[in-house]
Amino acid sequence: MSFDAASLANAATGGLSAYDPGHDLPASRQRFGAMIAELGSNENPLGPSPRALAAAQAALAGAHRYPDPRGGALKAVLARELDVDSKCIVLGNGSHELLMLLAQCFADAAHAVVYSQYGFAVFALAAAASSARAVAVPALPIDHPTAPLGHDLDAIAAAVGNDTRLVYLANPNNPTGSWFDDAALAAFLDRVPPYALVAVDEAYHEYVDAPGLGTALRFARQHPNLVVTRTFSKAYGLAGLRVGYAVAHPSVIATLERLRESFNVNGVALAAAAAALDDRDHRARVCEFNRSERAWLAAELTRRGYRTLPSQTNFLLLDLVRNAAPLERHLFERGVIVRPMGGYGLAHALRISIGSRAENLRLLEALP
Ligand SMILES: *Cc1c(COP(=O)(O)O)cnc(C)c1O
Repeated sequence: MSFDAASLANAATGGLSAYDPGHDLPASRQRFGAMIAELGSNENPLGPSPRALAAAQAALAGAHRYPDPRGGALKAVLARELDVDSKCIVLGNGSHELLMLLAQCFADAAHAVVYSQYGFAVFALAAAASSARAVAVPALPIDHPTAPLGHDLDAIAAAVGNDTRLVYLANPNNPTGSWFDDAALAAFLDRVPPYALVAVDEAYHEYVDAPGLGTALRFARQHPNLVVTRTFSKAYGLAGLRVGYAVAHPSVIATLERLRESFNVNGVALAAAAAALDDRDHRARVCEFNRSERAWLAAELTRRGYRTLPSQTNFLLLDLVRNAAPLERHLFERGVIVRPMGGYGLAHALRISIGSRAENLRLLEALP
């Protein structure tokens, strides 16, 4: 008799499959060496602040100690930066962990979890892992004038029912790059009953500069059911250290704390994140580079006949209309790693991160 534990998995886990990392990056780095262009994971081509690296280095000397389980120092810096009380903040091993924790702590088989079609992949995963009923609301059409494939907030609000415990929004959204402005969010929040938490994932917040688009945090006081998540993985360039945070009503935070792993954020990451937050000049350089490089890359792609969707993020979604798999393979064979979107039901699209100028040129040169 062969043993297969997959048949023993609980109902929630039984229907899931493991994260698909795409290409084997360590093997690809060996194969392509310095000629690789890693444009598949929305990482920061300028890297972290030198001050964050120095803080990380210094913190390594304490590697034999457990980290501060409360992350008090980082929370204090965040609280000052965001003008909220520390009690309104929870730290995560990346914001991915916090998005999962929200569903785990607040939803179960008796509840619905609502999110947009083409919303960030973790939303569906979190709903499934908590055994909740997943409600994926159809996205806006691809020819929508301002938010192609974006969140249809009217339809999402209409999908919130008596059993809805959690709504996930991403603003801007990955992988579509789409966004909605603060006024649209305010109107949405007015329509959602207080027993449904609204989690707004602002992983790309630092990059945004569209008119009317600020942050959901503006509405935290009027709407205690609002949760805002952010990350140090994107604009702060610390994806490898895994730090994110959520801001919410103290009772939401206290509930999440019940299930949070005591030492979920390591000491090196805590130190680096606090230092990164303090380096405003570096963050400004990162955002300015991203803004100008994204505009340049989008124009170059358009000039070559490709359609890119509007973006407030550090990536572009390329709409090829036809199946994108052959182009993805073509690019990969030339050391250019981009993200195929078949898993999202967008087999005609590729997601391309804004890399360094050298990487972006390699992409353009590799195009057929
Ligand atoms: C990258 C990303 C995250 C953040 O992931 P971390 O776990 O913090 O690295 C969260 N939400 C969206 C929409 C993202 O694109």
